[in-house]
Amino acid sequence: MATALTTVVVGGGWAGLAAATTLSRYGMPVALFESGRLLGGRARSVNTQGWNIDNGQHIMLGAYRNILGLLQTLGIPEQRMVKRKLLQFEIHSTQQQTVTLQVHNVAAPMHLLWGLMRARGLDLHERGTALRLGARLIRNRFSINQDQPLEKWLLQNGQTRRLIQFLWQPLCLAMLNTPIREASTQVFLHILRKHFAREREDSDLLFILPSLTESLPLHAQRYVENHGGQFRLQQRITALAIDAGRLHGFYCGETFHPCEQLILATPPWIAKKLLAPHPETAALGAQLGEFHHHPICTVYIQYPETARLGNDLIGLVDGIGHWVFDRRINAQPGLMAVVICGPGKHMTMDNDALAQAVMAELAALYPHWPQALKWRVLREKRATFGCEVGIQQKRPQARTGVEGLWLAGDYLDTGYPSTLEGAVKSGIMSARALLSGLQSTNSPTRAMR
Ligand SMILES: Cc1cc2nc3c(=O)[nH]c(=O)nc-3n(C[C@H](O)[C@H](O)[C@H](O)COP(=O)(O)OP(=O)(O)OC[C@H]3O[C@@H](n4cnc5c(N)ncnc54)[C@H](O)[C@@H]3O)c2cc1C
Repeated sequence: MATALTTVVVGGGWAGLAAATTLSRYGMPVALFESGRLLGGRARSVNTQGWNIDNGQHIMLGAYRNILGLLQTLGIPEQRMVKRKLLQFEIHSTQQQTVTLQVHNVAAPMHLLWGLMRARGLDLHERGTALRLGARLIRNRFSINQDQPLEKWLLQNGQTRRLIQFLWQPLCLAMLNTPIREASTQVFLHILRKHFAREREDSDLLFILPSLTESLPLHAQRYVENHGGQFRLQQRITALAIDAGRLHGFYCGETFHPCEQLILATPPWIAKKLLAPHPETAALGAQLGEFHHHPICTVYIQYPETARLGNDLIGLVDGIGHWVFDRRINAQPGLMAVVICGPGKHMTMDNDALAQAVMAELAALYPHWPQALKWRVLREKRATFGCEVGIQQKRPQARTGVEGLWLAGDYLDTGYPSTLEGAVKSGIMSARALLSGLQSTNSPTRAMR
């Protein structure tokens, strides 16, 4: 048996790190157990055959207030971590059609309406149709009575197939990583409200400047260690010890670690495995089993430095790739990250065929680019949970009903889809629930000192 630990966080993704930082901030040192070699979870860096790249291209938005608040706690100025840009995107089809939308630098939500009014590549009727829906959404505060599939709802609301293809589908894939035929209208509108209804800056694109592991994870680790916490990497939790409605500790293989409080910040499919064997948490485990997951593939292609997108990112429709990021903004000139969201025929292609197909799409758009020098395909099969109709009813709170056991992770009921912001918000929520639980029971483990 190992020495007793007071407070433990299991999982060093952005949710676990946010929880550990919040607990440390309120004077509670933690031990964080992470099964991987690196912190960051799905949003970490990877080294593949000597090439350091991120585990998939990530981008943040101005409305990610929990992350921006956490950076302040960590003492990191925003401009050191991210490059903020006014929302602008250009969507290209293989048929040489282009739609460009740029919000205007005026107060929200006028910036959105202005952007729709001035969108290039849409005809007058299309702009009017999108604008009318935008105005109606603002009037209704982006809410609907009953959830339904987004595509169906858009058609019912007069949106044309072309508007769906060039505007709504790219947004749906970028925000929910879920096919538009299945996606939850309720979650989609909630996110539109967060990004477009409050402050103009909420819709800004925030490009993460350092590598993913050197962004929030590295600084959170330093902060937690400076506050008396410790990190145990490559330590996989294999079971929880729960008895009579209370957590007593956990196992890493054969080793039992007693502890009083534990935040389980693993992905839902791991949390399910750890919760299912206990009668007290079997129902919660079954609830987590109802989540579906969708992949994200990122094809990194290194071209000679002269290759430029002409934008920080562009969207693609009716081909294989969905978004292309020019990593010049990360001081990686010539490196393109092509993101393929959700399920699709690309999942049945081998890496070589997929990379060749993506390079052919780029060559058609940028015929003057030189030959690619190297490429890598990163596939994350369970990148995000599916944001289908009814998903909100399945998402749990941080409380588990077992004394001393709490949940964190992007799948919690944060209102956000599977995102960095959802993960960080859940970690903060969980730490706060733990701290207020301790205060109300007046446990000997004092939360605020
Ligand atoms: C390719 C890709 C692109 C994405 N793009 C974006 C984007 O642009 N913007 C955005 O906001 N979001 C994006 N996301 C989503 C975002 O990465 C996730 O929502 C977020 O990272 C989830 O964080 P988490 O802490 O909840 O879970 P995770 O990151 O999964 O962290 C869980 C941690 O628990 C650890 N763990 C698991 N089991 C155990 C165990 N038994 N014992 C100990 N540790 C364990 C894991 O190793 C992991 O480190 C993307 C995701 C992917 C994969």
